[in-house]
Amino acid sequence: TLALQITDLVKQYPTGTQALRGVSLEIEEGRFFGLLGPNGAGKSTLIHCTTGLAAPTSGAIRVFGHDAVEHYTEARKAVGLAPQDLNIDHFLTLEETLDFHAGYFGMRKRDRQERIAELLDAFSLTAKRNDRTRTLSGGMKRRLILARALMHRPRFLILDEPTAGVDVELRLELWHYVQRINAEGTTILLTTHYLEEAEQLCDRIAFINDGQIVAEGTSPELAEKF
Ligand code: ADP
Ligand code: ADP
Repeated sequence: TLALQITDLVKQYPTGTQALRGVSLEIEEGRFFGLLGPNGAGKSTLIHCTTGLAAPTSGAIRVFGHDAVEHYTEARKAVGLAPQDLNIDHFLTLEETLDFHAGYFGMRKRDRQERIAELLDAFSLTAKRNDRTRTLSGGMKRRLILARALMHRPRFLILDEPTAGVDVELRLELWHYVQRINAEGTTILLTTHYLEEAEQLCDRIAFINDGQIVAEGTSPELAEKF
């Protein structure tokens, strides 16, 4: 089964910038896949196209077989996104943050409550559940973003630069959490500009540069090539 299948994806912005120049990519179910590339390579654009935030100029995107371009409804249910900009409402409590997100996916009240309790526990946030998010530390905020992305039980989780700008200690902590998410069966696509992060976490890596995939393989395969 393919979690993600991208075919000949092109994205040209109205400014004329060709952010993606014919990208094809397949991610098998269960993988921890890394998209590695420098700033401006096109990583965010690829994620925005995959999550319905940007319209591709041409090409196809399927998530577990569901079209993610023309009819995003089904694909959307399968995808969880932990965006790069943390994007949380500082005046909601942690529980409210997760509950609000559940609303988008039409989860039933009883199911929501169980899921919220389960996620707060999994991400060591239970003690903070009734606090407003503005009181959280940076690490707690990032854990909350992971919990929010998983709220509707997506089969495919997208992590956009999950450790950009965090210190080494917090990076290790976040690695521990995302590895566990993958071990429990969720397919992951992670973007990063840290080689070490991709090597540590990912079982397959694609290098993207200037809107094109320039290499793809396991970490040892890529080490042999470069
Ligand atoms: P990355 O995430 O790898 O840093 P991006 O996808 O953000 O790369 O950017 C790829 C290219 O597209 C860059 O040249 C960037 O400046 C450009 N770009 C990104 N978003 C927009 C936009 N909304 N309008 C015009 N150009 C954009
Ligand atoms: P990210 O950090 O997620 O890669 P960027 O820093 O590339 O995002 O972009 C931040 C915002 O600015 C986004 O909304 C993006 O669409 C927009 N943007 C990025 N590059 C350009 C550009 N060259 N022209 C216009 N808008 C851009």
